[in-house]
Amino acid sequence: MAEQKINHLKDDYLVQATAKQGLLRCLAVRTTELVKQARNIHDLSPVSCVALGRLMSGALLMATDLKNEQDRLTLTIKSDGDISNLTTIATLDGKVRGYTTDPHAISYYKSAGKLDLAQSVGKGNLTVIKDLGLKEPYIGSVKLVSGEIAEDLASYYFYSEQIPTVIFLGVRLNQQGVVAAGGMMIQALPGIDTEILNWLENRCLGFPELSELLAEGISPHQLPDMLLGVDAELKYLAESLVEYYCECSRDRMNRNLLLLGNKELTELSEDPNGITLHCHFCAVDYHYTQAEVKQLAEAAIVL
Ligand SMILES: [Zn+2]
Repeated sequence: MAEQKINHLKDDYLVQATAKQGLLRCLAVRTTELVKQARNIHDLSPVSCVALGRLMSGALLMATDLKNEQDRLTLTIKSDGDISNLTTIATLDGKVRGYTTDPHAISYYKSAGKLDLAQSVGKGNLTVIKDLGLKEPYIGSVKLVSGEIAEDLASYYFYSEQIPTVIFLGVRLNQQGVVAAGGMMIQALPGIDTEILNWLENRCLGFPELSELLAEGISPHQLPDMLLGVDAELKYLAESLVEYYCECSRDRMNRNLLLLGNKELTELSEDPNGITLHCHFCAVDYHYTQAEVKQLAEAAIVL
């Protein structure tokens, strides 16, 4: 991969490290700019922005499990709350996109300034899909434990992959919009003993809110340091930029339309106004004139 110039004070980036002689895997990411972008694209209400921002930050952390650039990690939450459907897709090279069917959910507050995400998400399931380019994708699903998302992702790792994991996620907003967003994940690797796990649990107790630290200007590099302290012997391995990126294109839309087949495309070509396809992830519309739909219908015959 080409070396990327990263501005540690401003850019959205992800850092990977190990600690305790390689027995802990540590990841931290800042997602402030890409969550701002998601908010603009989808016109998100505060609570919808926090939900999608946390899930996108978590997806970027989890996408580091992927092996190849073409692999995709999808997280979906389906639940019975006001925010009943969230989807995000992330890649190994730090690209993420997301949408919710409920961008304007009403924001409830637990206390002044503290959104009650658990109430807005409600009860439901988290599904993790890892498309590794094999015949079948890997699919794992767990019941939501809190709806606050960080705990739900940790519960997925614990129950589906048997990996003890601690996850922090945060999105901070003010009247003007997104102030800070990001995440941190610490995972226990095989061979770890209970002594280190207990030590980690103690370190996590009373750790400040992640979004507050990010809003104060703490960088992703400093987060594992702050959580684990000098005894952890942190070793930083890699850092990479992350961004909001949608993979849609007119070419892809053409291919999707061709899959409909000649019969359906011929029916669609009867509309003199043509058709418009909408991308949920980036809100771009792709318009096809009646003549273009007719052309596609003809192309579909020879397929
Ligand atoms: Zn798109």
